[in-house]
Amino acid sequence: MLRALETVVGPGHVVTDPDILAGRAVDYTGRYRGRAGALVRPGSAEEVAAVLRVCRDAGAHVTVQGGRTSLVAGTVPEHDDVLLSTERLRALGDVDTLERRVQAGAGATLAAVQHAGAAAGLVFGVDLAARDTATVGGMASTNAGGLRTVRYGNMGEQVLGLQVALPDGSLLRRHSLVRSDNTGYDLPALFVGAEGTLGVITALDLRLHPTPSHRVTAVCGFADLEALVAAGRMFRDVDGIAALELIDGRAGALIRQHLGVAVPVDGDWMLLVELAADHDQSDRLADLLDGVQLCGEPAVGVDVAARQRLWQVRESLAEVLGSYGPPLKFDVSLPLSAIAGFARDAVALLGTHAPDALPLLFGHVGEGNLHLNVLRCPVEREQAVYGPMMELIAGCGGNVSSEHGVGSRKRPYLGMSREPADIAAMRAVKAALDPTGYLNAAVLFV
Ligand SMILES: Cc1cc2nc3c(=O)[nH]c(=O)nc-3n(C[C@H](O)[C@H](O)[C@H](O)COP(=O)(O)OP(=O)(O)OC[C@H]3O[C@@H](n4cnc5c(N)ncnc54)[C@H](O)[C@@H]3O)c2cc1C
Repeated sequence: MLRALETVVGPGHVVTDPDILAGRAVDYTGRYRGRAGALVRPGSAEEVAAVLRVCRDAGAHVTVQGGRTSLVAGTVPEHDDVLLSTERLRALGDVDTLERRVQAGAGATLAAVQHAGAAAGLVFGVDLAARDTATVGGMASTNAGGLRTVRYGNMGEQVLGLQVALPDGSLLRRHSLVRSDNTGYDLPALFVGAEGTLGVITALDLRLHPTPSHRVTAVCGFADLEALVAAGRMFRDVDGIAALELIDGRAGALIRQHLGVAVPVDGDWMLLVELAADHDQSDRLADLLDGVQLCGEPAVGVDVAARQRLWQVRESLAEVLGSYGPPLKFDVSLPLSAIAGFARDAVALLGTHAPDALPLLFGHVGEGNLHLNVLRCPVEREQAVYGPMMELIAGCGGNVSSEHGVGSRKRPYLGMSREPADIAAMRAVKAALDPTGYLNAAVLFV
């Protein structure tokens, strides 16, 4: 099989060095590790399809790897897999400023697409802290959300067309020059969020948006989480909303202490809110904040430098979470009315199962999409915490995955968010496209 793979991609792009494979078989957090037999780096869609054919015929399992920033161990191989990396599929087409779209290879990073859009005066609708590493193929596969979802929606809403290598080794291209297209099944939607179980995305047509000429950002302190959620409920429906991020005050204290970043407000909870439009939004933001129960004065930024200083509080979170080793991560979506109760009950649950743990909550409050990060939770306490936390989330009416996907970490809990008939239908789709189940076998289903 290795020789056949070398014939397809060239000998330099089939790697069997054990150290490299070990580095690729571990997840982003360093908590989960698997085993791989080879790493293959195809350089074109045709090569991806041929690699899949070779692996299927040889009975090998394949795990697809983009930027490997999955936070649910989505790229950890469990069957001595061939790792199929999209890192050479990075080509970016010219930005079509009239139709506001761009064609990108699946391995292009989010930052590369953002820069291409910005150079043409346009904005890409999804942003997340892993932007320099996460690929647009991986992001479509997980239907990633992030810092701009409240305005532009998730990754699925940015995908206008896709090219996919199917498990049988054929290539499928759904590409329409016209946005309105109701011709048959919405196949791109099937591959968005499929976490690589149905095929390998090789290229995408992505939507871009006009750049608003004015932005205003504020960080507001709250004594009470209920009051913050009430403000979030009001802001998410406001015209021009561009970001709405909840930040735990305990995280603010760590950012101050470990990174020396100035946190401009007090309060147990903080809300970063941004409005963007084609005219100045400062007075409007002040009027909207007038009715909100704040703890002290908000910090407001209008010019780029001031706004960046405020965003630094949110952007520093990714770094500070590692202060005590890899955190235990929960990506959940909750009805807004359940958030304060969940925060209270999660702290109590940790008090029982991992008393030394430090819980930090943050996330995209407009969508009820929260990230609970448990710092100082020893690996041997993980199992005791994980299941009860999933039950708590489901009991609050939430989903066990909000934007990170199911990966291999959450597959035992799929049934908490999906009914049996739903899972059976998903399995039927999987079986139709990948009857031997060799592609991303560790992901989604037990
Ligand atoms: C600091 C940090 C911040 C983050 N913030 C957010 C956030 O705000 N919102 C959010 O949604 N996520 C966030 N994430 C999670 C992660 O960045 C996303 O899940 C992202 O979509 C993964 O992209 P990737 O290229 O790294 O994919 P990978 O991690 O490589 O893969 C993710 C899954 O998709 C599959 N896959 C990858 N590429 C392809 C392809 N071309 N075709 C088919 N399947 C493929 C993989 O097999 C795997 O199952 C964050 C992660 C980090 C580390």
